[in-house]
Amino acid sequence: MADAGPTLYRDAALADGTGPTLRKGVSILVDGRRIVWIRDTSDEGELPAHVRVIDAGGATIVPGMVDAHSHVTLPGGSHWIDRGFDAPDDLLEVAEHNADLLGRAGVRWARDVGSPAAEDPRDGRKQALALRVRERWRGNLSRPRLLVAGTWIAHSGLLPSGLPVEADDGPALLSAAKVQLDAGADFLKLYLDGPKKEEAAPWSTEDVRAVVEMAHARGTKVTAHSGYLVGARVGIDAGVDSLEHGFELDSDAAWKMARQGTFLVSTLAIFRSWRSFSQTTTLPRFAGDEGKERAARRQERAIESVQLAHRAGVRIAAGTDFGGGSLRANHLAWEVESLVEAGLEPWEALASATVRGGELLGQVEAGCIVEGGPADFFLVHGDPLTDPTALWRVWRVAWLEDSSPSES
Ligand SMILES: [Zn+2]
Repeated sequence: MADAGPTLYRDAALADGTGPTLRKGVSILVDGRRIVWIRDTSDEGELPAHVRVIDAGGATIVPGMVDAHSHVTLPGGSHWIDRGFDAPDDLLEVAEHNADLLGRAGVRWARDVGSPAAEDPRDGRKQALALRVRERWRGNLSRPRLLVAGTWIAHSGLLPSGLPVEADDGPALLSAAKVQLDAGADFLKLYLDGPKKEEAAPWSTEDVRAVVEMAHARGTKVTAHSGYLVGARVGIDAGVDSLEHGFELDSDAAWKMARQGTFLVSTLAIFRSWRSFSQTTTLPRFAGDEGKERAARRQERAIESVQLAHRAGVRIAAGTDFGGGSLRANHLAWEVESLVEAGLEPWEALASATVRGGELLGQVEAGCIVEGGPADFFLVHGDPLTDPTALWRVWRVAWLEDSSPSES
């Protein structure tokens, strides 16, 4: 199917993550899946013949979002860990469902930070399922654009056995990291919580630095799951490119991250989701008094960490942790709301879900709306620069209009 021809989105507002001001009375002309121009509606000039005009009055145009922490092969929900052991074919189907949810929620890019490994029937090799999903989706406009970290690398005794690649010392860590890159991972994900959680990181700073140096020499990045301060310190000192969650930062850690350009990928909405499970499930972890108290305590600490990072000037990218945590694939707006609750201005929180995510991915076109760039934007009802909940009210998604199966 060929492209439908030029489309004009007329008289919308425009909100991107570059500042606090909503631009009103904007028209955008799209042709061949690119943005031809962005003009004032009062000054559109001559239009191409046979242009399709969409009256976007009252809606706001927003850049396609970047979910900086996602697990596309997993469904999420209160049994999210069990689902990691479902049959590979089921998980590949889950990924297709997630792709639909992501697109309709205005999420253009997903950064996959860990998926179960399964044997590839084509060559018998065991590889991260998200790598196969990436191949399937490549060039398919209706599917999210994807960067994939392969499988989690963790110390034993932490995640359910069979899920991560386990490495208990420096040499094992380095060789596991190389295997991931050889298999085609776009970047590496280390699990910097140790079996002793609060007390000790799983590997030394030197061990992690060796991985960072190897990855950088190969032109890729390293990110680290960080639930506790001891692991965060090791990651920061070793020079990882980003911390996931960063639930326990202190001001030293935050300043150092800002100084060396380490990103924080926030996932605060996890706690909102857990609180909802205290109502909707009977699982003691969520519904029991002890579980609720622990979650509330960790949430408070995590919000404080984001505040410290924000004040220090750390670049914050928004993630849901859908699939690898309890959220679902269409929940990124929840994280934007959480960042505003933590003290970011709404435009800064929108930046976290758009342009900052693009910077983290190293993709200049991700999270931006520019003339000549891809038509990767969506339209919502309301103003996300004053009300982040507007992001839930998706009206149209430009890249899903007349999407043909292949990209020219
Ligand atoms: Zn995760």
